[in-house]
Amino acid sequence: MTKLTKVKYLLLMLVFLLKGTDIAYSQLVQDSVDLQPYDLMIEEDENDGYDSTQVACATDTTPPAFAIYGSAWNNQDVNPYKISLVDMTDTVQVDLSGYTHPNRNVITSRFGFRRWKFHYGIDLRCAVGDSIRSAFAGRVRIAKRGKAYGNYVVVRHYNGLETTYAHLNKILVKVNDEVKSGDLVGWGGNTGRSTGPHLHYEMRFLGEAIDPTALVDFATGKVHSHELRLTAGNFEYVKDVDQVRYWIVRSGDSLWRISRKTGVSVAQLCRLNGIKSSSVLSLGQHIRYT
Ligand SMILES: [Zn+2]
Repeated sequence: MTKLTKVKYLLLMLVFLLKGTDIAYSQLVQDSVDLQPYDLMIEEDENDGYDSTQVACATDTTPPAFAIYGSAWNNQDVNPYKISLVDMTDTVQVDLSGYTHPNRNVITSRFGFRRWKFHYGIDLRCAVGDSIRSAFAGRVRIAKRGKAYGNYVVVRHYNGLETTYAHLNKILVKVNDEVKSGDLVGWGGNTGRSTGPHLHYEMRFLGEAIDPTALVDFATGKVHSHELRLTAGNFEYVKDVDQVRYWIVRSGDSLWRISRKTGVSVAQLCRLNGIKSSSVLSLGQHIRYT
């Protein structure tokens, strides 16, 4: 890196430090458009045969997608950012080139509501020991065991997305490991809250989950296009999640009683909860009514 490039990069770091990490989302997106730290860093190295990803890794420990996430690099929480994107006005362009489908098996559960809970990923059937591969190049942000996720890995990618691979039988990477698209991150399994071997696969942007089918055709394992245009529409489901209310079944409750108390018909309760009017309720069961 030449002196001139170093000065530019230090100035850039200073700008981010002054702004802090909890700057508004619109500002973050604006920064991602205006400031391109990796471009600045490699302008003297363009003839060395490196791509920007390799140069960024070789020259410093700046986390991937620094222009979007700043210096935030949390190794515990899937969504430590707590930024709401449902009202974002910008369109964010995400480069999807180089995508590798982590596992080619069939979908067993889609992104969306599961009765009163929301399923923030897609489940893919797999056998214990199946290879699970990183979707894009990036750096491992989380590699640990969680109660619900079991053994899981989160990778921050250079394109700004983060992907999660959960219920792994074995984790094959460590925090801060650099991975290329298609590198093994673990073996498929059945750890955590899981009733059979499967991969729970999430895609997130700034912590908020995106329906992976918006990017990927799961029948072919290929992206729909080499560029994703993220808008508020991708996060519209959050409004529905926020509106969900549920009744916790107590002694003496029946669907008719819950219907009377909530003003929601028995038929609607059955539809929302995937049950029949003849279903027996159990104490503590969650019955969604909105
Ligand atoms: Zn799942």
